[in-house]
Amino acid sequence: MEIKPFTNKIWLSSPTMHGDEQKWVDEAILTNWVSTVGANINEVERMTAEKIGRKYAVALSSGTAALHLAIKLCGEKIYGQPKVGHGSLEGHKVFCSDMTFDATVNPVAYEGGEAVFIDTERDTWNMDPAALEKAFEIYPDVRLVVLVHLYGTPAKMDEIRSVCDKHNALMVEDAAESFGASYKEVQTGCFGDVSIISYNGNKIITGSSGGMLLTDSEEWAHKVRKWSTQSREDASWYQHEELGYNYRMSNIIAGVVRGQLPYLEEHIAQKKAIYDRYREGLKDLPVTLNPFDSAISQPNYWLSCLLIEQCAMSKQVRGEKEALYISEPGKSCPTEILEALARYNAEGRPIWKPMHMQPIYRMNPFITASGNGRARSNAYIKENGFVDVGADIFERGLCLPSDNKMTSEQVDRIVAVIHECFA
Ligand SMILES: *Cc1c(COP(=O)(O)O)cnc(C)c1O
Repeated sequence: MEIKPFTNKIWLSSPTMHGDEQKWVDEAILTNWVSTVGANINEVERMTAEKIGRKYAVALSSGTAALHLAIKLCGEKIYGQPKVGHGSLEGHKVFCSDMTFDATVNPVAYEGGEAVFIDTERDTWNMDPAALEKAFEIYPDVRLVVLVHLYGTPAKMDEIRSVCDKHNALMVEDAAESFGASYKEVQTGCFGDVSIISYNGNKIITGSSGGMLLTDSEEWAHKVRKWSTQSREDASWYQHEELGYNYRMSNIIAGVVRGQLPYLEEHIAQKKAIYDRYREGLKDLPVTLNPFDSAISQPNYWLSCLLIEQCAMSKQVRGEKEALYISEPGKSCPTEILEALARYNAEGRPIWKPMHMQPIYRMNPFITASGNGRARSNAYIKENGFVDVGADIFERGLCLPSDNKMTSEQVDRIVAVIHECFA
């Protein structure tokens, strides 16, 4: 049967407006509250904190800004306030998730710290607690961990938290992709000493941009709100005792978020239906979807991802910017599937390329469960078939179109395209 290309492009994950967004944006404009103060901001902070179950939420210009202030805050709590022009993490290592978007880890560098990347486990594709424990054996002085919940699937929080507590370390939780997901019935965003979510355009709920910092400490929330508005002291002139930032959310953006927030559960249900349909449609192929343990966690299904079994991988070689593959009957590879999707007018994407494989971070340490991940012998690679878990998932995995507006027929057509790649 011939597969028809999509007339309108099928996106990986695009914004879904419902109408209420317009109402709150209009109200902001009509009442002239067009700045970084206003009712939409207050409401969005209240609603977000309530939905997630945290005491305080601070509305910021992006998830990246929220991560920056979260990481800076923890740095100052651990090491004290730095001199002006110096980062709060200068001279210090920080343990970070390895397989993630680089916005998770860049703020460590903004604050002058050195990220040490922790390898990934196979059960949820998040930070491996055994590798984290190993990292503390190698670098016992580290006091900060930055952890992500990838693609909306919660990490192994009990294990990670107990390693952090044992070593007296603070945790920054990057829940940018996992808004609405829960672990043992507690929502992601509740697990970090400081946590963040993102309202960027591709996230499950969006303001076009924007982010939130979450904490249970009134003092910390206060501090972040002050830093985000140029660190003005309580004086009638501009008085400054510390470095400031222009990181506050705008009341217009907050209007979009305010209109979106009631639809979180609906978006999750739509994403779950897409994930379930992919799983059913692809079950006869040598592939699996991004995994989770349904007894422990409830993902938000932000992106459905595919992992090709090793034995069904055709030959694929990736350079710094290009990829080549050889098509083989009964086999496929991410590059072949991504090219096929693009041909049919659908957007897929490779798995986040692990941070330890990024040229910018090539000098940073990388720790696996068995120790220094940069010192793998050729014998090890030959015996195991992979260098490390992150590199392996990157090699064999890809993100499928997961737009919540996709119909069953559209998911089925993507499934047919993938079958064609394995034919
Ligand atoms: C999107 C994202 C961010 C950054 O959020 P922005 O709002 O785009 O700055 C950080 N971490 C992860 C894992 C993300 O997916």
